[in-house]
Amino acid sequence: MFVCKKGAGKLKIGVSGIQGDFREHKLMLEKMGIETVVVRKPEELDFVDGLIIPGGESTTMIRIMKMIGFYDALKKKIEAGFPVFGTCAGMIVLSKEVTNFNQDSLKAIDIKVERNAYGRQVDSFETDIQIKDFKKPFRAIFIRAPKVVEYGEDVEVLSEYNGSPILLRQGKILVASFHPELTDDAEIHELFINMV
Ligand code: GLN
Repeated sequence: MFVCKKGAGKLKIGVSGIQGDFREHKLMLEKMGIETVVVRKPEELDFVDGLIIPGGESTTMIRIMKMIGFYDALKKKIEAGFPVFGTCAGMIVLSKEVTNFNQDSLKAIDIKVERNAYGRQVDSFETDIQIKDFKKPFRAIFIRAPKVVEYGEDVEVLSEYNGSPILLRQGKILVASFHPELTDDAEIHELFINMV
């Protein structure tokens, strides 16, 4: 079992169940021995220590988040230092700006992203990547992934693929353009838990 550096203690992590592959994130965290709850209502955010926004369809996520007050509640918490990890669509939702679609975002991390920039569904691919401070390569699965086209100076790039950043962190916000929840490797989830 994964051992949290500070001691996971009574940590409880939420996975946004608004849309997308939240079950895979939940399974991954449970395998690590972390108490995990699927969060769908804004008020449920108050009972977790951090949140994962999964892959899926960012337009749908944002639309539903706004409709049910989840967007405002989460934005307020993020401004107060709430840790959030977004994968693929989750990265888009957390970004400052989406350059090629007219859609809103949470503006939680200073990155500009281009949606579906690595090609269409048929062009999804896997590759081994190197991540800062990781001892072994990580198998990264890209599915209609967003590309980071610009990032601010406070953003730390933890991994790159073909010259584009694919894993980035700013304060308590972590984003990946690929899907670590679809592999057996928990190391990126461990990184997030240690940020929480
Ligand atoms: N293409 C999706 C979007 O733009 C993201 C794909 C994914 O999460 N795998 O929202």
